[in-house]
Amino acid sequence: MIKLGAHQSIAGGYSEALKRINKIGGNCLQIFSSSPRVWNFAKMNEGEIKKFLILNSKLLIHPIYFHASYLVNLADESRIGHLSKMSLIAEMNIAPLLKIKGSIVHLGSYKEEKTNSKYDSLIENIKEILKKTPKESLFIIENAGNRKIGQTLEEIAQIIKELNDKRIRLCLDTCHLFSNCYRFSNDKELDLFLEKLDGLDLLDKLELWHVNDSRDSFNSGKDRHANIGQGTIGTNEFKTLLNHPKTKNYPFIIETPGFNDEGPDKKNLDILKSLILV
Ligand SMILES: [Zn+2]
Repeated sequence: MIKLGAHQSIAGGYSEALKRINKIGGNCLQIFSSSPRVWNFAKMNEGEIKKFLILNSKLLIHPIYFHASYLVNLADESRIGHLSKMSLIAEMNIAPLLKIKGSIVHLGSYKEEKTNSKYDSLIENIKEILKKTPKESLFIIENAGNRKIGQTLEEIAQIIKELNDKRIRLCLDTCHLFSNCYRFSNDKELDLFLEKLDGLDLLDKLELWHVNDSRDSFNSGKDRHANIGQGTIGTNEFKTLLNHPKTKNYPFIIETPGFNDEGPDKKNLDILKSLILV
């Protein structure tokens, strides 16, 4: 069965997100561990953990991922870098208690210019996070847009190679790929893209896909998501991705604005389901 899910709100507690995804017809899930716009460290009490696990033993939502805070910048050399590291350590420590696979992370940005010392901070911060979190908790790098770290596959490959750790995985976002000059609207183009990934040793790092349409044009360098079918990517790309034998078994998670602007919704999932060939 295809793994298709969405990012959902944790308002009211983590268990509420399980109910929300179940209600809109998804079977896998992404959540924030705490509010993504303020520095808040994930905490969990035993009661909440139990409630979440019991509910999910019935709903069977799997896999589940955390998405790291929007404030994270692991290349920052002072306070923000430190807070980024501490928030990921907190989050990746509670993930296994909830049977959550790990955190999907936008690495951050070099701001005005990339320097060797900012790059070193990035690598050192991630290494420390891995050292201070359980082995089963994955650190999943998401490809980025908008002048952030990880816009090109080559840049991500270099970072992953340097980290050299099995717990480092990759999340590819269709919107961010499209705005950075990667597209595949048929099987042949997707085959070429997968070959490129493989050539960079990234194919066996691939953990999941973020499936979002784009508000901006091809190779715009931006990263603004659109609802499926309302953006510039075109549904052929999603159809290809969801049906290709080499990609159809990955989890697919939407982060679309929603047709009522209330976040990822049933209609976006239903459109994707309608593209799946039986
Ligand atoms: Zn994404």
